[in-house]
Amino acid sequence: MKSILIIGAGVIGLSIAHELSKTKKFKIVVIERSNSFGSGNTLKNSQVIHSGVYYKKNSLKNNLCLKGKKLIYEFCKKYKIKYLKTGKLFLACSKKEESYLKILKKNALKNGVKDVRIINQKELYKMEPFLNGNKALLSPSAGIFDVKAFVKKLFEISKRNKVNFNFKVKNLDIKKINSKFQIYLSKKKLFDYVINCAGMNAIDIARRNFPNYRFPKNKYVRGVYFKTKENLKLKKIVYRAMVPGHIKERIDITPLLDGGYILGPSVEKNHFNNKKKLKYKFINGIKNHLMSINEKKILYYKEGIRPKIMFNKVNLNEDFYIKKVKNNNWINLFGIESPGLTSALSIAKYVKRMI
Ligand SMILES: Cc1cc2nc3c(=O)[nH]c(=O)nc-3n(C[C@H](O)[C@H](O)[C@H](O)COP(=O)(O)OP(=O)(O)OC[C@H]3O[C@@H](n4cnc5c(N)ncnc54)[C@H](O)[C@@H]3O)c2cc1C
Repeated sequence: MKSILIIGAGVIGLSIAHELSKTKKFKIVVIERSNSFGSGNTLKNSQVIHSGVYYKKNSLKNNLCLKGKKLIYEFCKKYKIKYLKTGKLFLACSKKEESYLKILKKNALKNGVKDVRIINQKELYKMEPFLNGNKALLSPSAGIFDVKAFVKKLFEISKRNKVNFNFKVKNLDIKKINSKFQIYLSKKKLFDYVINCAGMNAIDIARRNFPNYRFPKNKYVRGVYFKTKENLKLKKIVYRAMVPGHIKERIDITPLLDGGYILGPSVEKNHFNNKKKLKYKFINGIKNHLMSINEKKILYYKEGIRPKIMFNKVNLNEDFYIKKVKNNNWINLFGIESPGLTSALSIAKYVKRMI
């Protein structure tokens, strides 16, 4: 029986533990530095099941998002996890944005998202009477789900399948002994495989263990959310129209399962300290395409950090990085930004095939 060490109990570590433990072929240990699972970016996002409209064709993001979307909906149905297939609108408010819709649609069809269609103002008004816009691209397969319940279920099933979880593991010290990896967890343990899915720390952990190997660099980008409990009477997730590959900052509106909406995430390059100023950026980003909004009800909510990666000083690496270290049974997962949540269950299957 192969022994596997998984570093990090975020949605990715939990999905991998869940997938591998179903086969009963592996002895699995998960280590997590905080005192519970899902304490990283896992719960600091929009909780959107993305449909896969704007990723690059044949990228891991494209393939794994499409497969993951299907798997998440099935999982939610099977385990009675709350979800809503709301659909998503890419809203065009100008002639320029209207031209983006055709590009988006073409990209979606190329990517295998076959159910998208452009809707005119009349249909848009019928669908969402409280939204202002000229046209939109409708992507019906996007949705929202209860991520907290989802990760809890992954944890419970993995535990039932005898995965050994260790929380509060602060000083991660891994030694390579021949082809195996050793850590100390109350006693010395040897592993055939290491799966490094420690989110924001994954690259540092890989570097410490393989100092001569070329890994990408971290480029963290903060994303802040505001929230309103006001009933904006929108049923769908609303994004502004965009051109794939040239995605600019925009303020998305996402319904919450228990009422209200989350606004954002924004893109903050530096640490922000003026929440009032930031709030106006949010209001300006959405007020023109809503019939009305009560600004007083918009409150700061939360923030996540996109673990973007770069191989050079200029360009961001736009795709997930899921690779084995050459000649080592060590798999790294870097740059698992959006749609990482949507893709979690298919990422786990992808990793399983690498073992
Ligand atoms: C602003 C924002 C919005 C997003 N919106 C969406 C969305 O709507 N839909 C979607 O599909 N995706 C979305 N994403 C992406 C999604 O949140 C991530 O892809 C996902 O959370 C990645 O999970 P993870 O397990 O890799 O990382 P994390 O959740 O960060 O988990 C990593 C874990 O590793 C642990 N760890 C770190 N260092 C160590 C160590 N040394 N030893 C042990 N454990 C360690 C951490 O404590 C943490 O628990 C969004 C991301 C951001 C930032």
